[in-house]
Amino acid sequence: MSMEKWADAEGALLDGLKLQPDDPELLTALAVVALRRGERTRARALVDDVLTRDPFHSEAQLLAGELRQTASVAELAAVSTDATHLRLGAGTTVDRAWAELVSYEPGLARMARRFAGPAVRGTGTVGGNLVNASPIADLVPVLVALDAEVVVAGPQGTRTVAVDGFATGVRRTVLEAGEVVVRVDVPLASFARSTRAYKVSRRFDDDISTVSAVVGIEQHGGRIDDVRVVLGGVATTVVRARAVERALLGRTWDAETLRAAQAAVGSDATPISDHRASASYRDRAVRGLLQRWWYETGHDAPTADVDVWGGR
Ligand SMILES: Cc1cc2nc3c(=O)[nH]c(=O)nc-3n(C[C@H](O)[C@H](O)[C@H](O)COP(=O)(O)OP(=O)(O)OC[C@H]3O[C@@H](n4cnc5c(N)ncnc54)[C@H](O)[C@@H]3O)c2cc1C
Repeated sequence: MSMEKWADAEGALLDGLKLQPDDPELLTALAVVALRRGERTRARALVDDVLTRDPFHSEAQLLAGELRQTASVAELAAVSTDATHLRLGAGTTVDRAWAELVSYEPGLARMARRFAGPAVRGTGTVGGNLVNASPIADLVPVLVALDAEVVVAGPQGTRTVAVDGFATGVRRTVLEAGEVVVRVDVPLASFARSTRAYKVSRRFDDDISTVSAVVGIEQHGGRIDDVRVVLGGVATTVVRARAVERALLGRTWDAETLRAAQAAVGSDATPISDHRASASYRDRAVRGLLQRWWYETGHDAPTADVDVWGGR
């Protein structure tokens, strides 16, 4: 509803309630007043009342959208940390989620900067990124690489499922009818791995991924003894690249291991061609991202500035 209409509706109220008590305009205006006073439950009841009478009442529909935004539900937007986990409420905005994750792992900062623009970052949520179930969602591969779990609530109670496997296909998830995502729990132990995230898109700013790769590695005595490689944009869901991980595990992180990892990409990735990129481009881009990772962290990599975006 435009500000003028709100003012008109409130004016009508103040002018002595010339409207019928069940008039949709009156009920909608009362809902606006309730919302402004922070009485969300009453606002929701009023809006539901209007929509029961007139499901196509456009102002009430707009208000319903506002009221149902998970980012504005305090319980769903809560972020907390305890001894074992960083817990991100489903309504945590994308901006806040990246800030939290980057505070634990600065290696995620580059990817964080590449997620949409301020408007989307300030309103989009963690829950939305997950339930969208897009193979090119950018938070999802990071959460998979960090062994995160999704807390889901529904008519049958609460259950916890791994982010890895939460999406079962494009726009499909394991959510049952009536279930919502409440929270994502990120184990603090996963930050023991050094994790980096890479995104390829046609533009630097405000563009979705063509492909992405999130890599986490822990090394002892020169050997890789824990690793996660997660890829976006190469299958119908974000995938954990287990063949690539096997090629890396137990090896020294050097050029020979890089070649073995690159050779394994074909077992994990089944990219398609679309308007954004061809399948072979995606395949080569993923191998290139592994090479870039080696350039940045490999034992025998030449010291070189490989930041093609000029430090942005
Ligand atoms: C211009 C633009 C740029 C974008 N750039 C990127 C990008 O760079 N990277 C990226 O990953 N995405 C990007 N996106 C996609 C999108 O903004 C993000 O995926 C965002 O995280 C979605 O969150 P949302 O709260 O807006 O979800 P919504 O669109 O509101 O919801 C998506 C789906 O999830 C459901 N849903 C939401 N929350 C819950 C919950 N708690 N429980 C159950 N179901 C729920 C909704 O009902 C809906 O079906 C972009 C979008 C736009 C418009």
